[in-house]
Amino acid sequence: MAELDSLEFGKSDFVLLDEVNMEQFLANLKLRFQKGRIYTYIGEVVVSVNPYRPMEIYGTDVIASYRGRELYERPPHLYALADAAYKAMKRSAKDTCIVISGESGAGKTEASKYIMQYIAAITNPSQKQEVESIKDVLLKSNCVLEAFGNAKTNRNDNSSRFGKYMDINFNFNGEPTGGHINNYLLEKSRVVKQQAGERNFHTFYQLLSGGCEEMLEALGLHRDANGYRFTREGAICNTVSDDKLNHRAVLRAMRVIGFSDEEIQSIYNLLGTILHLGNVEFENDEDMAVIRDLDVMEQIACLIGSETDAVRRALLYRTVATGVGEVFNKGHSPEEARFGRDAFAKALYERLFCWIVRRINHVIEVKDYDPARHGKNTVIGVLDIYGFEIFDNNSFEQFCINYCNEKLQQLFIELILRQEQQEYQREGIEWQHIDYFNNQIIVDLVEQPHKGIIAILDEACLNVGSVTDTMFLDTMDARLIRHPHYTSRKLCATDKTMEFRRDFRIRHYAGDVTYCIEGFLDKNKDPLFQDFKRLMFNSSDPVLKEMWPEGHLSITEVTKRPQTAATLFRNSMVALVEKLASKEPYYVRCIKPNDAKCPLALDEVRCRHQVEYLGLLENVRVRRAGFAYRQPYARFLLRYKMTCEYTWPNHLMCSDREAVEAIVNQHGFQNDVAYGISKVFVRHPQMLYQLEQERLNL
Ligand code: ATP
Ligand code: MG
Repeated sequence: MAELDSLEFGKSDFVLLDEVNMEQFLANLKLRFQKGRIYTYIGEVVVSVNPYRPMEIYGTDVIASYRGRELYERPPHLYALADAAYKAMKRSAKDTCIVISGESGAGKTEASKYIMQYIAAITNPSQKQEVESIKDVLLKSNCVLEAFGNAKTNRNDNSSRFGKYMDINFNFNGEPTGGHINNYLLEKSRVVKQQAGERNFHTFYQLLSGGCEEMLEALGLHRDANGYRFTREGAICNTVSDDKLNHRAVLRAMRVIGFSDEEIQSIYNLLGTILHLGNVEFENDEDMAVIRDLDVMEQIACLIGSETDAVRRALLYRTVATGVGEVFNKGHSPEEARFGRDAFAKALYERLFCWIVRRINHVIEVKDYDPARHGKNTVIGVLDIYGFEIFDNNSFEQFCINYCNEKLQQLFIELILRQEQQEYQREGIEWQHIDYFNNQIIVDLVEQPHKGIIAILDEACLNVGSVTDTMFLDTMDARLIRHPHYTSRKLCATDKTMEFRRDFRIRHYAGDVTYCIEGFLDKNKDPLFQDFKRLMFNSSDPVLKEMWPEGHLSITEVTKRPQTAATLFRNSMVALVEKLASKEPYYVRCIKPNDAKCPLALDEVRCRHQVEYLGLLENVRVRRAGFAYRQPYARFLLRYKMTCEYTWPNHLMCSDREAVEAIVNQHGFQNDVAYGISKVFVRHPQMLYQLEQERLNL
């Protein structure tokens, strides 16, 4: 309790600010950051500022000091939050989840790892072997997923390029029994193209610098990442010293998880294939693409368990079916061939990534759990997902990511703000109304059936061939022109063709974002010639074949249009939000202090912006206006009746409410509570700590 509110370290809960405004908020954040206090509460929400330096606050002694304690007994920490989520789950057998949000580089992934480490450290005190090995796999899965799903970007040297939601399952004893990982929207365009200063996914560089000689030789690779188009694009592709070490760590982790040697070999074969594919050149022979370098075809064929000619044909031709069921081969132009090659490389990597996630799930998924024998199986979910993105150039990916954040904000509003207000009203408790912006209108703008942007985009993609990005934009302009959160803008292009390049703007809850329309249709359709799918399905390598089940269809059988990327993403977001909404949520809000990855500087302009779009001030206001805890009278009574002579062992009063009043009055907490219709509302958590303590002392 010592540092709860001190001159030296500031207020450990923003609720204690003298006044709730941006200036005071930032001043407190800054003071604490400079004193090395990177965590601060808003009630049960942890606000975290990335320290960009190693902190001595994660040791086993620190873990021990948070274990089983209540939130306010110790300085703010992720461990306290993890403990609260764990305790709530254990006490009430309710599923909980921890939602970690913030922009790129704010520290989400690190936070999720500390949370998992904490949970691993405090469970299974008797060191049961099977539980230990499950914990080991859960922790090791991070290492593998980071190698394949993270990359160096200009914002973060270890940026997660996918969203991740992980359930950890517990038995009635509170021991981890397994888990499940859901991954969202891997940024697969990175496989073939990176911006200046950025890298492809770590795993490519790890393989090139850490793979042993024999392995590289078998893959036909040399160590120089500059020799491959896919790893040289960003121009700073040089491997970093960690790559070599990490390669070994990933290999070890894969073995611990249970990947077989054959599976590991198939994974590296695919990475090799992708690197070779990047170097395949197409030459122009009377507008038809040809490949001169057949050695590389042979190399790829060997790696994917196919024939040289089959690979060559898949890259140069596509099978086309006419309306009357005739089938013939149509040669690609060089441009089509390049497009096909890149789509193939991206798809290979994406399938690989999803397969790795499934493979890990196969190991960690709880099998044969019998609730009758083992009690209720409960879950803590941890969500580490991309934060809001506003770049100079925003495209389809940013559109999806920002839509995801709208959905999460909607959940936050739903759970914390609206439910809170509604419950007060229901219970007849006086409530100071807090105005907040409800972003449902923006969610609808994007996802509403028939009317929303995704629906219009899908409609445009249904029309074969002729529809262009600009036509899609025209349709949006026509249909959405009156929407208060949509603006169409015409931009004169600077390029020589003097075409009109156009974009549209969405007024997001976090600010205005302008999206460049170029590539929306292609990215949404995400086309991949059936010939590639068939090539992979016919692979002699069972692992690769398994990744391409739909490859058995011949061209005349492929009738159903695959769902578009945006629709798939929307469905996965709807499912995610449903999953989260069914759990008791805990929030970590991460803030990036500056853009220079510097340990001491706190850039006020950048932080102000993040505090705004994370809705932190509103959060403090709601929290201050309200009561920290509430419990139905009967539950409160059951738990604390032994602390009061009038209620122990049974009370003789007319109602449970009166009995609760007796307990509250006996301890002198009259001013800290309010009595609702069915529940008692507790303003400060301290009151509960004292009651808990008294229970223990009895
Ligand atoms: P992205 O959205 O790009 O994945 P992120 O929010 O997951 O970003 P992290 O990868 O967790 O960001 O953090 C970026 C870097 O900041 C880390 O690699 C690490 O160097 C540093 N960092 C983050 N949190 C901490 C911490 N608690 N202590 C020390 N360093 C940290
Ligand atoms: Mg991350």
